[in-house]
Amino acid sequence: MPYVITDLCSDTKDRACVSVCPVNCIYEDDAQLYIHPDECIDCGACEPECPVSAIFSDDTVPPERETSARLNREIFESATPPGPPRQ
Ligand code: SF4
Repeated sequence: MPYVITDLCSDTKDRACVSVCPVNCIYEDDAQLYIHPDECIDCGACEPECPVSAIFSDDTVPPERETSARLNREIFESATPPGPPRQ
């Protein structure tokens, strides 16, 4: 199961996850960072790096974060997908 970045990322956007991802599948928009579900290889390297614990394996997402977790797929299917992470 791919990993997801929830809305806990908003307002922080620390980006520590970006530098450890071996396949560069983490993207960003003005709101937060997202993991591309078809590119993530489920290595788990990003999860412990997040200082606000915004990252979950998608089968361990808390119920109150499920809506934002779904956005990791939906936003890449939208007319305005996120782009490469900013530096
Ligand atoms: Fe990248 Fe691995 Fe995190 Fe997936 S689980 S986003 S491949 S670091």
